[in-house]
Amino acid sequence: MKFIAAAIIVSMAVACTSVPKPGVPEKVKPTKNLIVMVPDGTSTSLLAVARWYQRYMTDSLEWKLNLDPWLCGFVQSRLSDAIIPDSAPAMSGYMTGVPSRAGNISIYPLPHEGQDVVPTDPDRAYQPAATVLEAAQILKNKAVGVAVTCYFPHATPAATAAHTASRGRYQDIAYQMASHGLDVIFGGGSRYINDEIRGIAAQEGVTVAIDDLDAFRSAEGKTWAIFNSSNMDFEMDRDPKDEPSLSEMTEKAIEILSKDKNGFFLMVEGSKVDSGAHSKDPIETITEFLEFDKAFGKALEFAKKNGNTTVVVLPDHGNSGITLGDANYRGYSSKGPDSMFVNMKNYKMSSSKLTSLMRDTEDSEMVEVFKKWTGIDLKPAEVTLLRRGLGRIEDDYMKVSGSVNLQSVICQILASRTHIGFTSGNHTGEDVFLAVYNPNDQRPEGIITNTELTEYMCRVLNFGKSLQDLSDQYFAPAKKVFEGFEMSTEDGENYKTLVVKGNGHTLRVPAFLSEADLDGKPVAVTLPTVYQKENDSFYVDSALGALLK
Ligand SMILES: [Zn+2]
Repeated sequence: MKFIAAAIIVSMAVACTSVPKPGVPEKVKPTKNLIVMVPDGTSTSLLAVARWYQRYMTDSLEWKLNLDPWLCGFVQSRLSDAIIPDSAPAMSGYMTGVPSRAGNISIYPLPHEGQDVVPTDPDRAYQPAATVLEAAQILKNKAVGVAVTCYFPHATPAATAAHTASRGRYQDIAYQMASHGLDVIFGGGSRYINDEIRGIAAQEGVTVAIDDLDAFRSAEGKTWAIFNSSNMDFEMDRDPKDEPSLSEMTEKAIEILSKDKNGFFLMVEGSKVDSGAHSKDPIETITEFLEFDKAFGKALEFAKKNGNTTVVVLPDHGNSGITLGDANYRGYSSKGPDSMFVNMKNYKMSSSKLTSLMRDTEDSEMVEVFKKWTGIDLKPAEVTLLRRGLGRIEDDYMKVSGSVNLQSVICQILASRTHIGFTSGNHTGEDVFLAVYNPNDQRPEGIITNTELTEYMCRVLNFGKSLQDLSDQYFAPAKKVFEGFEMSTEDGENYKTLVVKGNGHTLRVPAFLSEADLDGKPVAVTLPTVYQKENDSFYVDSALGALLK
């Protein structure tokens, strides 16, 4: 017994005096699969808000989030010239190791003189930066996919498999994502699936299912299952007969991708935590995040069983400074959980949907309908505010909390019965949390940068080549690749085509597709060609240069 006691004391001493090793482990034993999960716009404080809400609602002592045991550090998701990120360059930073500027999707940034917070290279400005997904696909021949609740060419999924200086070019992004032949795309956005994209899918052997839950559930091979013309519904509004949850999409994506003998890369995004936070709607924000945590639970279950899968979880940025306790929560230290959550038990609809519902409701029924979905007895002053709000509709979710409009009034009423506080209605610049499951316990620790996180993911998948080398190989400036040849461009209905002539040959390279044509014969292109409007330049597979010689 004495020996055991001594051993315990010695091991405790070792544990207490061991020196932390912050940063990314130098050597990482590769795993076959990598799942990256992003709860968009999730402030670290939302972990506590959601955890307490869950405990309150389930009245359970089992109240930990699935994520909790795997939290291991924080990440600085800074841009090349700003502290507070926009989703597009934030995810680009993780996927490429290249911090860039607002609106950028996985490209090298244009330097911003006097403001850059990382070194930038003017010679590379606008060049596409290869992503972890692309490297997994072409260097390791892995199956790749994305599962999200926003429309699929939206910022975060776009940054995994597309390149553009401006995130709003959704159709260009959709072409690039389609041309990658992603094994799985689950999400919203059927308005971006045109006949040409269906044609690309057919060539890639992909089944496209639009608003078809049965086809999604019975899918066995490469599948793009798209629900809703724009974003999918908030989890709390979702009709399970129409749309799958994020956790079901995560499970299904893993089921399909894990059939690949070379392994897989999957990106899962809880896209709409961000929308809830922008609106300062406590219930949208919390329930979207809890569904994300459930999706992580599904990924973790697979990873533990599989034994060869790393799961990396991190938000792209905080949003709206959500807090337990607002400015009016006086005497907080003597108040119990009821004061925070009791009214939220009756919140049955997101503020987004409630906004539409109130617009369709007769004035005489407004008070009753509001109570039905929120449990709230409106005060006369609140009814007046709602009536005023009816004439002011804000369709852009990023701007809802910035003005007096119907949804912002609804959100203020919902929040006023909770004591959950918000600071801004915008993104915030605190370090984001990092949670990692790795079967060999090799995880980054402490505070790291987005660039270091990319390095970790590259080590996990053991690429053996840098992403920058890939960028130079597959996204080489056409001006260099075809130097000395005659170049012109043709405007098509949907995209431009580069035409190169020389030595009796004509090479045609359409933007955003993985194909080219030499003297009328098709030529394979490894990654989709990129055209950048900002500097009027094509970036192409450098192997194409040899075809004209
Ligand atoms: Zn975001």
